[in-house]
Amino acid sequence: MIDVELVGNALCLDFTNTVNSRPVARRDWLATPEETVTWARAAGHPIERQAGLAAALPAARDLRETVFRVFQPLAEGNDPPRADLDAVTAAYADSLAHARLDHDDGRFRFAWPAPRTAGTLLREVAASAVDLLARGPLERVHACPSCRWLFLDTSKNGRRRWCSMTTCGSRDKARRYYAARTSS
Ligand SMILES: [Zn+2]
Repeated sequence: MIDVELVGNALCLDFTNTVNSRPVARRDWLATPEETVTWARAAGHPIERQAGLAAALPAARDLRETVFRVFQPLAEGNDPPRADLDAVTAAYADSLAHARLDHDDGRFRFAWPAPRTAGTLLREVAASAVDLLARGPLERVHACPSCRWLFLDTSKNGRRRWCSMTTCGSRDKARRYYAARTSS
């Protein structure tokens, strides 16, 4: 069963949501090469060459936590730690060192040459993080009050509160409903 949920509206945020809880993950989509491949495919950033993937997973989880420590404070209106911003900068420098500019429908975009590896995914995540940091809108980055997943609110009215109305939104509604009934 594929249980990948993509609610972030930005690759870097979806990547931070590859654990369902912190500090102890009940589910970690970067725990094994197989799960990582499944997640990456579902996220539209497939890993084609899987040789060396197991060895790359600790670095992948490190980058995930670095990106989380940058955007989680921003979701609450605080400044991220300098050390984590520097780590994102270092990851972005590596990303650019491997990128090339490809013509894409009237503009140029950074692209990373095939075959796609775990390294390609991490370079795309670093580029996505810098893109979001530099261009924002950071006031639209939020943490779901129920599961703490991060997401970029791209809704028209900018009032999205939950990672997903079908999971956390409805769960919270049900909880409040029962709490109201049992307290009356
Ligand atoms: Zn949630």
